[in-house]
Amino acid sequence: GRRGSQGRLLAPHGGRGFKKLEVRDRILIVEDDASIRNFLRAILEANHYEVILSATGAEAYSLITSRCPDLVILDLGLPDLDGMTILKRVREWTGMPIVVVSARDHERDKVDALDQGADDYITKPFGPSELLARIRTAIRHYRAAGSAEGTRSGVFRAGGLVVDYDKHRAYVDGRDANLTQNEFRLVALLAKYAGKVMTYDFLIREIWGPNMENNNRILRVNMANIRRKVEENPAQPRYIFTEIGVGYRMVEPD
Ligand code: CA
Repeated sequence: GRRGSQGRLLAPHGGRGFKKLEVRDRILIVEDDASIRNFLRAILEANHYEVILSATGAEAYSLITSRCPDLVILDLGLPDLDGMTILKRVREWTGMPIVVVSARDHERDKVDALDQGADDYITKPFGPSELLARIRTAIRHYRAAGSAEGTRSGVFRAGGLVVDYDKHRAYVDGRDANLTQNEFRLVALLAKYAGKVMTYDFLIREIWGPNMENNNRILRVNMANIRRKVEENPAQPRYIFTEIGVGYRMVEPD
């Protein structure tokens, strides 16, 4: 069953007879498979999230509107409504973070979900650390987007990679990576959304405009050049990862 809301604001703290005000992020799990649902709940509760559960799309939609979760974990294969339908409906009025869970390793599903506004996806089976990282990233991006602090200005740092947005330069281990203008724009775009997978179509549209749509070759060529310039071993990248059939993902900043 679902937990009550009384746990959200007050949590006993220590043995000193006072309560510490603690606001936990509330996560709605939408999943019809009971074993996966319980697995997710156990991980999230162990990591101090407040959890709401739903096994159907209709109930999920009503919980999203009534309980305002901080993030939704959405299974695409539900008995009543397609997860994609819920995604589209929710995106009509809110940008709340949604991480899609895909049972099948169907790349088209992931791409569709991302294009419909999902913040990220994970493919079953997945481990706790991957799930928690995806959740933290999605919530952080949502809050950063809503705050005055722009992520485009300043500097992105991850290990030896530095992306200086103002100077339009990327550096690796202190050396200028000598990126071309389009290569820099690609790296800067991935850095801006670090931790989040960016689809091929999104990147192509952003860099080359709508007329280049469905031309993945130019993107692949640019990415190969970028990797040659920024990665020590392009076959085992440390900074920019390939999500096969979907797109690319920049490593999280330091
Ligand atoms: Ca399912």
